[in-house]
Amino acid sequence: MVGERIEADHVVWATSVVAMKNVFRNHFAETTWFKKIEKLKMMHACTFQIELTEPVLSKDITTFGPNSCLGSFSEQSRSTFQGSKGRLSIILTPPEKFLELSKEETLEIVLEDLKRVKIHIGREQIIDYQKIDHPNDFYSLAPGNNQYRPKQTTPIKNLYLAGDYTLQPYFATMEGAATSGMKAAKLVEDGNRS
Ligand SMILES: Cc1cc2nc3c(=O)[nH]c(=O)nc-3n(C[C@H](O)[C@H](O)[C@H](O)COP(=O)(O)OP(=O)(O)OC[C@H]3O[C@@H](n4cnc5c(N)ncnc54)[C@H](O)[C@@H]3O)c2cc1C
Repeated sequence: MVGERIEADHVVWATSVVAMKNVFRNHFAETTWFKKIEKLKMMHACTFQIELTEPVLSKDITTFGPNSCLGSFSEQSRSTFQGSKGRLSIILTPPEKFLELSKEETLEIVLEDLKRVKIHIGREQIIDYQKIDHPNDFYSLAPGNNQYRPKQTTPIKNLYLAGDYTLQPYFATMEGAATSGMKAAKLVEDGNRS
């Protein structure tokens, strides 16, 4: 419940990198530990979902759209969104550009770029559509940035971090997030034993 105080012996903080920074900055901005985390650059993501009267692709499989705004796209009505008659999910590129645009403006660009990969969607086929912004949702994969990913341990006793941005063998993926959670859980377990 919002505002409820929950006490625990150990806390694993498992938010996205931007949420972690925004909350921890209020308390630890002056520490060497957090100053290093502040150097971890972040990057945006932006996706577009189109609900359709029928599937636009014969298979639900992720495809890439080089030289277009379609970073990757997939029909998903037979897999993730089985309640939909047709559902095209798109990861837009470059995200910086689309964060600035309205969903209506984005639709026009998306429909044009879909034509370039031979996907023609008529207006009458579109039931609904939405743009979803994820500002600063990922740590940046730019060279030199990996060194600033924090470990799951923190200088604060019994406080641990988990999340795809924390240091683990993977990039920002579900595997990475799960691995970081397992690492944090192991630290809690080890702490309980000592
Ligand atoms: C469009 C897109 C496509 C992707 N595709 C793939 C893919 O195909 N394969 C793959 O492996 N990965 C993919 N990823 C990446 C994958 O989704 C992430 O790496 C993974 O979800 C990260 O998990 P996480 O637990 O670190 O963070 P999240 O899943 O972001 O979970 C963080 C949680 O913290 C919560 N939260 C935020 N702020 C606060 C707060 N202040 N207090 C409390 N809670 C808070 C959020 O609500 C959220 O539930 C994709 C990501 C995106 C955006």
